Amino acid sequence: MTAGRPAPQAKRAAPRKALSLDQKFEKLGLLEPADFVVHLPLRYEDETQVEPIARLYPGKMAQIEGRILSTDVQARPRAQLHARIADDSGELALRWLHFYPSQLKQLQGDLPLRVRGEVRQGFHGLEMVHPKVTKAGQPLASALTPVYPTTDGLSQVQLRKAIADALNHADLRDTLPEEVRTEYGLMPFSQAIRLLHYPPPELSYDDLFEQGHPAWSRIKFDELLAQQLSLAQARAARQAQRSKPMKVGNSELTKALLASLPFTLTAAQKRCVKEISADMKRSYPMHRLLQGDVGSGKTIVAAIAAVQAIASGFQVALMAPTEILAEQHYLKMRSWLEPLGIELAWLSGSLGVKAKRLAYEAISSGQARLAIGTQALIQDNVQFQQLGLVILDEQHRFGVGQRLELNRKGDAQDKKGQAYLPHQLNMSATPIPRTLAMAFFADLDVSAIDELPPGRSPIITKLAADNRRDEIMARVRAEVAQGRQAYWVCPLVEESEALQLQTAVDTHAALELALAPLRVGLIHGRLASADKAGVMEAFRTGNLDVLVATTVIEVGVDVPNASLMIIEHAERFGLAQLHQLRGRVGRGQIQSVCVLLYQAPLSAIARLRLRAMYETTDGFEIARRDLEQRGPGEFMGMRQSGQAGLRFASLESDEDLIEQAQTLASTFRRDYPDHANHHLQRWMKGREELLRS
Ligand code: ADP
Ligand code: MG
Repeated sequence: MTAGRPAPQAKRAAPRKALSLDQKFEKLGLLEPADFVVHLPLRYEDETQVEPIARLYPGKMAQIEGRILSTDVQARPRAQLHARIADDSGELALRWLHFYPSQLKQLQGDLPLRVRGEVRQGFHGLEMVHPKVTKAGQPLASALTPVYPTTDGLSQVQLRKAIADALNHADLRDTLPEEVRTEYGLMPFSQAIRLLHYPPPELSYDDLFEQGHPAWSRIKFDELLAQQLSLAQARAARQAQRSKPMKVGNSELTKALLASLPFTLTAAQKRCVKEISADMKRSYPMHRLLQGDVGSGKTIVAAIAAVQAIASGFQVALMAPTEILAEQHYLKMRSWLEPLGIELAWLSGSLGVKAKRLAYEAISSGQARLAIGTQALIQDNVQFQQLGLVILDEQHRFGVGQRLELNRKGDAQDKKGQAYLPHQLNMSATPIPRTLAMAFFADLDVSAIDELPPGRSPIITKLAADNRRDEIMARVRAEVAQGRQAYWVCPLVEESEALQLQTAVDTHAALELALAPLRVGLIHGRLASADKAGVMEAFRTGNLDVLVATTVIEVGVDVPNASLMIIEHAERFGLAQLHQLRGRVGRGQIQSVCVLLYQAPLSAIARLRLRAMYETTDGFEIARRDLEQRGPGEFMGMRQSGQAGLRFASLESDEDLIEQAQTLASTFRRDYPDHANHHLQRWMKGREELLRS
C-alpha cells in the first residue's frame, strides 16, 4: 500500500445467513437418529488427570494446575499474550497469538488455574499455545472425552447432546444374529456403540486410540460387511440387465486372425480368451478386467474378443486415455483386422472436421465395425448402429462418468422396449493386489495374463550415478550401431509443466549434439497430435535412432526394435511409473537394457524404489512393494481409503476383517435376508449409488 491517503474501506460482504443447528448437522450428513448413532469420535481427550509440569514432554496433550507467575502483552510484531504458570514441580510458558481482554483478566486474577493443551518445544523451554483455561480444583472427568468430527460453528457440546439424544431414540438392534456374532467373535452392536460414545473409566487412551479395541473391530466389520453386501447387490443388479449374447467360438474370422499371427498365443492368453468368450455368450453384460504385466500381450486378447463380437454381427469400440496409446492400438488393430476385411474407424479430438464427419458416418452406418479412439468416442455425434462390446484400455485413467458414457452408446431397445447394454472389457497393466481388488472392484471379474510370451529375455536394469553420462552415451551409440533403437526419458519436473517441457527441449538439443550423427527425435505432451503421430511413426519405422521423451510414452507404446532405455533422474519417478516406462523395452526377442540414471544423494524412499527396480521385473512384485512403500490410497491414485466409501476401516491395516466380511457377505443375504437389509439400511443409506459404478 502506498503511503498517504488511507485505502478506501473495502465494502463488507453481506453477512452470510447463519446456518441453523439442523443445517449444520446436515452438513455432516446427520439427519436421523441413526446417523448420529454412527457418528463416532475421531479421537479422545484424556481429562481424567492433572499432570505435574515436570512430567510434560513435547507432543503430549495434558492438563496441569498451577498459579500464574507473570503475564506479558507484547505489542510487536502483533499483539501477543505471554504468561508463565508454575506448580510444585516446575514452570511452563503459555502463549496466545491473539486474545480477548477477558482472557488477560482471567490470568491476572489470583486464583489457581487449570490449563489444558498440547505441549510444544518453544524457544525458551516447553510451552502451550492457545491452551484452554478454567478454574483449578473442579472435578475431573471420570472417563475419556470423545472428540467428534464437526463443522464450522458446531461445538462438541452440541454434538454430544444430540448424540446422547439420538442414542435414546434410535434403533440400536443388532443387525447381526447372535450365532454370527459368536462365530466371528464380535461384540454386540449397542454395546460397541455405547462404549465408543461413552468410554468407561477403566479404558485408557491407548486402548481406544489405537482403534484395536473390540468395539472398533465391530464397527469396522459392520462397515466392511455393508460394503461387500452392497457390491453383491450391484452385481445382482448387473445380472438383471440385458445384453445380446454373442455367438462366440471359432468363427472363420477368429480362425483367420489366429492363423495370420506370427506367433501362437501363450497358455495364459488362451485362458483369458476363453473367460472373455464365456462372458460374452451370456445375456447380461460382461464386466471384466483383463490384467497383465506390461508386454504380456493384452492387445491381441482384446483383438480376439473384438473379432468374436464382429463375427456375431456387432460393432466394437476401443477407447484409450491418450492419443498416443489410442493410435498405437489403431495401427496394431488395423494391421491385424484389415486383411480380414474388417473396416476400422479412427477418432480423436485432433482430427479435422471432415475426417471426423467421415468417421461419424462410418460408425453410424455400421460400415466401420471397430471404432478406436480417445475420449472423442463419447462425443454426442458418435452414434453406433449396434454396439456389442466396449473395450477400455488403462480403464482406471477414465472417470466413472466417461466409462458409463461409452456404455450408453450401445443403448438399444427391442420392439418390446427391452434395453440392451454392451459387454465391457477393461484392460490394465497395473496389477492390483488382492485386498484392494476386493475392496474396490468386487463387481469386476478378473482375468490375468500371468506369463510373458516365450523367448523374451528379461530386461537388465542398471543403476548409474549421473556423472557417468559419457559412458551411457557410448552405450547408446553401440546399440544404434547394431541396428537397434533407444529411448531417453527426460526428468520429471513435478512443480512446473513449463519447466518440464524446457527440460525435454534442452535434453533433446544436448543429445542431438552429443550423439551426432545419430538421428534424435523428441516427443512430449505439448506437441500437436499430428506431430506426435509423425514422430512416433518415424521412430517405429526406424527413421529415428533415439527418441527423447517425457512420460507421454509411459503407456502402450510398442516398438519391439527399441532395446535400450535411459531414464534420467530416475529417483524422481514413482515405482509404478518406472515399471511402466521400462516396459517400453524388452518387447521383442532382443536383450534389452534399462539404465536408471540418478542424482546422488538418494533419499531413503528413492533408494528403496530404485532397489526394487533393480531386483525385479515382475509387475506383481513391483506393485506389492509400491503398496508397501506408499499405502493403498495413493497407490490407487486416490488420496485415502475414504474414497472406497470407508470411514472407519482401513485397507492398510484391516486385511483380516476385509476377508471375514467377504466370507460372511457371500452367504449372509441368503441366510438372513432381513438382517442383511437392516444392515444395509444402517450403513449404506443413500450411498449404494456410489459403489455401483
Ligand atoms: P501389453 O500387455 O503391454 O499391452 P502388447 O499387447 O502390446 O502388451 O504385446 C507386447 C508385444 O508382444 C507385442 O509386440 C505383441 O505383438 C507381442 N505378443 C503378444 N502376444 C504374443 C505371443 N503369444 N507370443 C509372442 N509375442 C506376442
Ligand atoms: Mg498395451
